[in-house]
Amino acid sequence: MGQFDGKTALVTGAARGIGQAIALKLAAEGADLALCDLKAEWLEETVGKVKKSGRRTECYSVDVSSAEGVDSTVKQIEKDFDKIDILVNNAGITKDGLILRMSEADWDAVLNVNLKGVFLFTKAVMRGMMKQRSGSIVNIASIIGLIGNAGQANYAASKGAVIAFSKTVAKELSSRNVRCNAVAPGFIRTKMTDALSEEVQQKMLANIPLGRFGTPEDVANVVAFLAGDAAGYVTGQVISTCGGMVM
Ligand code: NAP
Repeated sequence: MGQFDGKTALVTGAARGIGQAIALKLAAEGADLALCDLKAEWLEETVGKVKKSGRRTECYSVDVSSAEGVDSTVKQIEKDFDKIDILVNNAGITKDGLILRMSEADWDAVLNVNLKGVFLFTKAVMRGMMKQRSGSIVNIASIIGLIGNAGQANYAASKGAVIAFSKTVAKELSSRNVRCNAVAPGFIRTKMTDALSEEVQQKMLANIPLGRFGTPEDVANVVAFLAGDAAGYVTGQVISTCGGMVM
């Protein structure tokens, strides 16, 4: 018996990294999965790994920053699974550069995926969750949204806004028993962070009290807690998963 038996979880950006780890964790605890990424075929690796848990898994191609795409995808998922109990807004991108050199296109791209995508998916699933009088939304922010970072103005702004958005969703939906929380990962080993130079990585390591980089599973464990009934009295909160970098 898993805590998510009979529940459906929608995870965006589930093809790899943190999104894949979240999908595996929720499935291991009993959830059926609606997996989203830009191209459904990129989700095959995740599906292969989820198969061991025996959960139902469907894949959807969707750009989280497209209102039309998100609406039609959520409608399809609601048809396929009848309901959505858990939404994890995980898809995210970086396009780093100092503000002086940051192009409007790079600003827009990051805000569109990281912030507008969270708004669009939340708006699309909330009607169903409000009707069923239950649901849990978990948004993947970042500690950069709490403390800022030189060279990441677009990313920091998007993640700070996701935190403010999450608190607002929590306030709007609490009366319908729908909770919304954010997770703020620190330095987690994925393709996104592997792109950083060895020098930057070593500098960051020196600032992590627990003395190691995080794993996607570290983040997935916190997401599973927030998504489940053990967090039934937790809403509008941000939990940093950063080895103590921010406290
Ligand atoms: P990742 O390895 O780059 O994975 C992100 C996934 O999202 C990829 O599969 C990506 O597809 C997908 N995606 C990107 N844009 C999309 C779009 N428009 N529509 C649908 N899917 C899209 O990143 P990650 O490190 O696992 O990060 C996951 C989340 O955690 C992000 O929100 C990130 O900001 C956050 N986070 C990560 C860290 C870290 O240290 N890694 C720290 C703090 C927060 P593609 O293959 O096309 O890129």
